[in-house]
Amino acid sequence: MNDELLELYQELILDHNARPHNFGAMQGSTHHAHGLNPLCGDDIEVFLQLDGNRIKDAKFSGHGCAISKASASLMTDAVKEASTEEAQAMFDVFHRLVTGENVSDLERENLGKVAAFSGVKEFPARVKCASLAWHTLKAALNQAHEQVSTE
Ligand code: ZN
Repeated sequence: MNDELLELYQELILDHNARPHNFGAMQGSTHHAHGLNPLCGDDIEVFLQLDGNRIKDAKFSGHGCAISKASASLMTDAVKEASTEEAQAMFDVFHRLVTGENVSDLERENLGKVAAFSGVKEFPARVKCASLAWHTLKAALNQAHEQVSTE
């Protein structure tokens, strides 16, 4: 990645931390889960409103570092109007992206702005911050566990 692109991505992350999208508890959510990253102190809740298998609305609340907050902000933007299968597929690509595994150009393109987190793979300690929202989303979709922890 060239420096110019990296700078653009950093700006996007800082901007979403300062002015997060979809922030606040949701009334009448059909699915929700609580996610914790004890290493950093990130603590977020993800709320979803599903209509069949389509995510009609997504919001998050809680507190955490800039990366965890920006990730939750961009994630909730990205999964709105997606099907649950599409959201799971995005999670899979995102996970490979931040852990430095192979991601095709098409997969990266499909992630849209969420691909801004690809730089996180250079900072292993921050990978959990960036993935927390996604793990929490997955828990909410599965409704298997009300609370997930990165530890
Ligand atoms: Zn964090």
